Amino acid sequence: MSKSKEKRIKKLKKNHIWPSIVGLSLILLIFTLILTAVLSLSVMNIVERKMLDSSEKSLKIAELFENYKPGTETEIRQKVLSYTDILDEIETVSVTDAEENPVWSSNDEYPVIENALGFEIFTDEELKKFRIIIDEDNKHLFVVEDGELVIDGTVFFDIFRTTFDIESTFTNVRIWYVIPVNGMNVMVLNDIHVYYRDLIMILSCAILCGVLIVIFVIYYLVSIISMAVSAHRTTKIIYTDMLTGGDNWLLFIKKATTLLKKNKRGSLNYAMLHLEMRKYRSFCTCFGVSKGQELVEKFHAVLKREMYRKETMAHQEDEAFGLLVTYTDTAQLEARIQKIENALNAVLPGMKMYFGVGVYLVQPGENDVEQLYNNAMIACEMIGDEAENRTAYFDVEMNNQKLWERKVEDDMDRALANREFQVYLQPKISTTEEVLGGAEALVRWIHPTEGFIPPNRFIPIFEKNGFILKLDDYMLEEIARVQAGWLAEGRELVPISVNVSRAHFTREDLAEHICAIVDKYQVPHSVIELELTESAFFDDKKVLLGTVRKLREAGFQVSMDDFGAGYSSLNSLKELQIDVLKIDADFFRGADVEERGLLIVSEVIDLAKKLNMKIVAEGIESREQVEFLTAQECDLIQGYFYAKPMPVAEFAEKYNV
Ligand code: C2E
Ligand code: CA
Ligand code: CA
Repeated sequence: MSKSKEKRIKKLKKNHIWPSIVGLSLILLIFTLILTAVLSLSVMNIVERKMLDSSEKSLKIAELFENYKPGTETEIRQKVLSYTDILDEIETVSVTDAEENPVWSSNDEYPVIENALGFEIFTDEELKKFRIIIDEDNKHLFVVEDGELVIDGTVFFDIFRTTFDIESTFTNVRIWYVIPVNGMNVMVLNDIHVYYRDLIMILSCAILCGVLIVIFVIYYLVSIISMAVSAHRTTKIIYTDMLTGGDNWLLFIKKATTLLKKNKRGSLNYAMLHLEMRKYRSFCTCFGVSKGQELVEKFHAVLKREMYRKETMAHQEDEAFGLLVTYTDTAQLEARIQKIENALNAVLPGMKMYFGVGVYLVQPGENDVEQLYNNAMIACEMIGDEAENRTAYFDVEMNNQKLWERKVEDDMDRALANREFQVYLQPKISTTEEVLGGAEALVRWIHPTEGFIPPNRFIPIFEKNGFILKLDDYMLEEIARVQAGWLAEGRELVPISVNVSRAHFTREDLAEHICAIVDKYQVPHSVIELELTESAFFDDKKVLLGTVRKLREAGFQVSMDDFGAGYSSLNSLKELQIDVLKIDADFFRGADVEERGLLIVSEVIDLAKKLNMKIVAEGIESREQVEFLTAQECDLIQGYFYAKPMPVAEFAEKYNV
């Protein structure tokens, strides 16, 4: 697969879910941190507020000791107790003198003032008045050092150590306030309670936040799920063949690659098959494209059923399917292909359909599926398009042929422009006087790197790709130029024939086109002969007949080439009025058919004579053949017996034209 195609697919398949999941986790973490911070700050705020409150109360109690004198203890105790009764946070009030000797206590408790601590809710001024001592149980709570305040964070954990009960205390902090009054230390023990009800507000906020988070998370999850669903759908679209609804080509490549990679050691034999229906286009023309597509869909269903484990198949394009199948030996594979073809044929009962199958036998370790399929396709291409079931196996020669075709196609335009195509002439010798009676122009390609290339290596390719039209025009023009040159030099001219490929007979103005080329050089039309083959009959007969008539009227000679090769029919001679009949060399080849061949030749010559045609025998290599043809009054002989095709200059010199 090409790099850019791979990139495009990767981009389409790209999963956008993971970033969302990571994003969601981060957001959840941040939310949790913020919520926890808000909650703890709120709780601490309550504690601070309560401490401020209790400090004020403690100051009030301390004020009772401003007028303290020995003897007034009972009175003050009374007052203090009445306070402590009302103020339930105040637990104990104790007084020491400046040297910290106990003076009086409501509960006989005296804290150690060395443990004095402070808390930041107090202003500097208040700090001077207070020293806070933490109860033994909570002594880690707040610390004052040299008048500087430091908060001991462990309070946070203390708060959450408690268990939840709405009627109970959420947490409590026992603090001694030490207030210097009247040369004494008045120490008030406050038990500050944070009740659950205090937390109701905070909890409601937390619940609200929680609900928001849940909504947010649900929204986010829904969007992630929908993203996952759409990603799944995209993947499905990427891998679905729209015509058959099955795997598409991309998925075939993926699955086939996996199967082949798993079979690295070659425990299974794999064959890559390219299967196509013959004459699919004709089917579409007869029954409509949608019927054709329905047929392909049904083929797909059949092929899918025909697949075994560890095999895969997919629709490739139009009427073609790719199949990766396992096999034990080629006989079994042939039988399998036959079975598949029968199953496909059963799709339309009463209609005979034909299939072409290209096979590439995969070697262990090979897993470039596209390359392997290309080989199967090349094999199939080599079969041609006949109406019969044919299977072809890929071999290296086929690949070389394909590579050669590519090279020819790459080079042909340049070759034409650079005049790499050269005209060779092969003489046609008259049987009566053994003198030159004509010549045939045959092309040769003198390639800058490949050297001399004979026409059978490129003419069939040009016939397939249409370039033959340009080449034939070029050859015709070259011959017109050569003849014009010789004419100017005062040489005697003999007719030179050029080949006109079957492909030309699609244009109705072919005769005018040929005239225009020749007339550029002002040579008499009678020295140009045009060789056409009978196969042109299979195309547009009307164009062929019209063109031949017009060419003859214009004074050109027209010959029928290769008569007797392939599917010749005498019928064409009836319809087509031509000047020359070229008898194909095939009649003279092969000892066993020679006698019958010669008999036919003599009859054909006889017939042609009666139809007023000149006869040229082609491919004549022996004296016996020449003698036979002379006896039959064949007019001209072309063949290696006299000469092989040669460059124009050599021809001019040898035959003194
Ligand atoms: P063709 O038109 O039948 O040309 C005759 C072929 O027979 C030539 O092959 C010629 O070299 C060969 N030949 C002549 N005498 C003998 C002989 O005694 N023995 C044997 N074995 N062969 C003989 P060539 O030149 O290789 O051309 C092959 C074919 O390529 C031609 O067959 C023709 O169909 C095609 N071709 C050549 N040049 C052109 C062209 O310019 N245009 C088109 N359309 N086709 C061309
Ligand atoms: Ca010819
Ligand atoms: Ca011929």
